[in-house]
Amino acid sequence: MSGGADRRLWNPAAEAMSADEMRALQLARLKRQLAYNHANGPFHRERFKAAGARPEDIHSFSDFAQLPLMDKEAHRQAQARGLEEFGDPFALFGCAPREKIVRINATSGTTGEPTLYGLTAHDVGVVNEMHARKYWRAGMRPGGVMLQALSLSMFTGGLPLSQGIQHMGACVVPVGVEGGTARVIQFARLTKPEALIATPSFARHLIEECEKLAGVPARALGIKRFFSAGEAGGGDPEIRAMLAQGLGARIFDHTGGGHAFHAISCDQPPGEFKGLHLVSEDHCLLELVDPDSKAGVEITDGARGEMVWTFLGWEGGPFMRYAMGDVVEIATDPCPCGQPGPRIRIIGRADDMLIVKGVNVYPQAIAGVIAGFRPRITGAFRIVLGKAGPSVSPPLRIRLERGEALAAQDLGALEKEMLERFRAELHIRPRLEWTDPRSLPREAMKTRLVVIEARPGG
Ligand SMILES: [Zn+2]
Repeated sequence: MSGGADRRLWNPAAEAMSADEMRALQLARLKRQLAYNHANGPFHRERFKAAGARPEDIHSFSDFAQLPLMDKEAHRQAQARGLEEFGDPFALFGCAPREKIVRINATSGTTGEPTLYGLTAHDVGVVNEMHARKYWRAGMRPGGVMLQALSLSMFTGGLPLSQGIQHMGACVVPVGVEGGTARVIQFARLTKPEALIATPSFARHLIEECEKLAGVPARALGIKRFFSAGEAGGGDPEIRAMLAQGLGARIFDHTGGGHAFHAISCDQPPGEFKGLHLVSEDHCLLELVDPDSKAGVEITDGARGEMVWTFLGWEGGPFMRYAMGDVVEIATDPCPCGQPGPRIRIIGRADDMLIVKGVNVYPQAIAGVIAGFRPRITGAFRIVLGKAGPSVSPPLRIRLERGEALAAQDLGALEKEMLERFRAELHIRPRLEWTDPRSLPREAMKTRLVVIEARPGG
């Protein structure tokens, strides 16, 4: 990196390359990486073999797209087999000798055995660089204090993030959310952070509780930038507006933890959202596939598909055509902010997708509609299914809380208005089940939006 604190990008040489230069760099790094993966990784070697291919046969991105995809389940199985046969979770999926692995991360997956990621010192340096690129673009500079109010035990929102912030020279306060909301507020008042990093649900909870816990509204904490992480919402105009108003802050959505894939939104008014700018193209190759058929989807402006990742210049456990389950829409037209690179807009998780009468619905799209009706409703809600998805026998049940100040006689009109919005935006006609304000459980980390409940009497 070069230049002073007034430069717009952390690493202009890497971040502001032309699209053609970037593709050429990616292809050169891809060829090196594939040779490395084949030479050092038994799991990847098996996949080459299954495709009848060798690294030296791969001359182009379309050659590369002939290799099989992998997913989390395949990763989990390789890890289990490594432990069972060699007593080492990285024996098959890993590519670096164990004495080079200096950190093990896991994803915050809520089901099944966690999948582990081994990083060498080189890989840790890449992650630090990616964090620095994101926060620099958002205007953080040395001296700025960042309150890290994520679950520290979830790895990617914990120590790797703290290290990345320190690497760019900003000051991190890794308070975590495990100690509760009052403790986060206490440290906000003591350390005067310029920025807060949290889930949107935690931020909403903080806005709701700050007055009661600290005697001041959340706006009085002096937070200038809110970095949304860990769950959807930071890209939703309604949720952004609510958080901007409640915190008195600019709202940024961002993603990427212990991996090579990192992206952050640019500084736009809360009602507008231009997607997440990819900052990691030189270390991470993106492909898109159809979420159902897994056939390749060309990356053009407006293309939609499930993201597939391949790490470039990575030693520990490089991803190679790893389908992560996130469905996105791509924007390649120039962004009004002037930042380089393509943008992604996360639409939902391939495995969260619900199908109601043939219509694909993502819980986070429902969250977006719901948030637009605050404060007549509190914004808290659950999707109630009779059995696990994706197919839902209609109507889709949504349990939601009336707002504190909503008069009983206004409920009918509100429901009509909401159903009209669901029809127009999501093409569904849900059944709304009303409950009292604050009757749904509040979760400090990640709110589960979908609950499974047998229908009464059925
Ligand atoms: Zn932008």
